[in-house]
Amino acid sequence: MVITNVTTYLVRPRWGFVKIETDGGLTGWGEAVIEGKAATVLACVEEMKDYLLGADPMRIEDLWNVLYRAGFYRGGPILMSAMAGIDQALWDIKGKHFNAPVYQLMGGPCRDRMRVYSWIGGDRPSDVAKAAKEKQEAGFTAIKMNGTEELQMVDSYEKIDAVLERVASIREATGKYFGIAVDFHGRVHKPMAKILAKKLEEFDPMFIEEPVLCEQMEDFKEIAAACNVPIATGERLFSRYDFKRLLQAGGVDIIQPDLSHAGGITEVKKIASMAEAYDVALAPHCPLGPIALSACLQVDATCYNAFIQEQSMGIHYNAYHEPLDYILNKEDLAFHDGHVELPKRPGLGVEVNEALVLEEAQTPHSWKNPVWRHKDGSVAEW
Ligand SMILES: [Mg+2]
Repeated sequence: MVITNVTTYLVRPRWGFVKIETDGGLTGWGEAVIEGKAATVLACVEEMKDYLLGADPMRIEDLWNVLYRAGFYRGGPILMSAMAGIDQALWDIKGKHFNAPVYQLMGGPCRDRMRVYSWIGGDRPSDVAKAAKEKQEAGFTAIKMNGTEELQMVDSYEKIDAVLERVASIREATGKYFGIAVDFHGRVHKPMAKILAKKLEEFDPMFIEEPVLCEQMEDFKEIAAACNVPIATGERLFSRYDFKRLLQAGGVDIIQPDLSHAGGITEVKKIASMAEAYDVALAPHCPLGPIALSACLQVDATCYNAFIQEQSMGIHYNAYHEPLDYILNKEDLAFHDGHVELPKRPGLGVEVNEALVLEEAQTPHSWKNPVWRHKDGSVAEW
């Protein structure tokens, strides 16, 4: 079997899909995107096509090494996201070839279903107690929300109190044991992160996320020492080498590699195993489409340290289309009691709605996140 074609598609709300075709008639799909630079990532996939056409799609490790090592330059959001989409599509082909879900080719599942959490509150969190209660009533056992709006390096206790009030309102509405994850989103810098993390302790959060950016990964240890709250991060890291430094720096309890940013299934499986050796849990980042989500579930299925999965149904970014619009087997990604069953179909387990993909590709999106500014006119982290 050889690869005969590689095609890329920009699809709303902000995603990029890759289709790999073979001479045997098998087709694989992947999701290659970094949010806000989707077209750049797909251009990178197009450039990588030269290494793929005529190659054996079953040799995933070898093709991964060709794209990573033989390309001379490696790592970073663009190259690793392009590789991630290609890698997912290759695993999809392999699974279809052996008529088995991908996780069956990676040792088989170590769980039957995966716990998922739901986003609430949007970019500027409001009405979060009501939203959390609705998710709880829909069966979810955990939610995640943005903690703050703009926050300067040193900012007011008024803004800290606003976060605490929001989290308190969710705790009150949902009860003592409901999972509440608070995403600092890299908006908070160390001076305020230590304070906020410490004050959030009393609400028993499931975790806090990106309390500072991974550019400051040596600070996680200090923040961890200042609070008794699990710390999660990793959506802006792209390879096992990035995660090696994070794990060695210490202070982090949960890693969140993104299956469409960090080299795909092949790389994230290795990252997850490395984290397991540090007693660090796995919660893959996935505010993306259905192909990325099913790639996450394949890895979650085989990783003992995976404990919860992000997913983007109803997330505030999803203008025009939701993940399930792009697949025909929607029932396979349905949530029951806050869990999703492992995919049962061969490959990644999604039947892509190709008609919608082709239609979307006619009007390519160029989604960007907003540019925020502080009151003094300086740029704020979004
Ligand atoms: Mg995040």
